[in-house]
Amino acid sequence: MSGQKAFSESAKSGKVLLAKCSKCGELHLGTVMFCAKCGSRKFDSQEVDARGTVATYTIITVPPDGFEKYAPYAWVVMALDGTDLRISGFMAGIASPDDLPVGVRIRVTGDDERGVIMERD
Ligand SMILES: [Zn+2]
Repeated sequence: MSGQKAFSESAKSGKVLLAKCSKCGELHLGTVMFCAKCGSRKFDSQEVDARGTVATYTIITVPPDGFEKYAPYAWVVMALDGTDLRISGFMAGIASPDDLPVGVRIRVTGDDERGVIMERD
């Protein structure tokens, strides 16, 4: 199991699947195909707790087809603790910037048709 499927499985258990380049050690998300630094396709996978802070987000008030029942929600970019990596995901019930200050603690709690699911930590 690798790539997007494995990444989703990790997210369902509150983890982030990372891929560390076997050649140069550069750290990537587990969905990576080749190392951004050296081009290698060999990685060592590891799982870490999916916790971090809100880096930025977009509030979705006019959702795409099929997502009407979820609105309002935010598409959030989380800065993963202890890394330079960022993960984007879905956060329910965000109607205005007052609901989600940048820098607040969040974590990954699941993965489904909405994508990676995030909640306040
Ligand atoms: Zn590399």
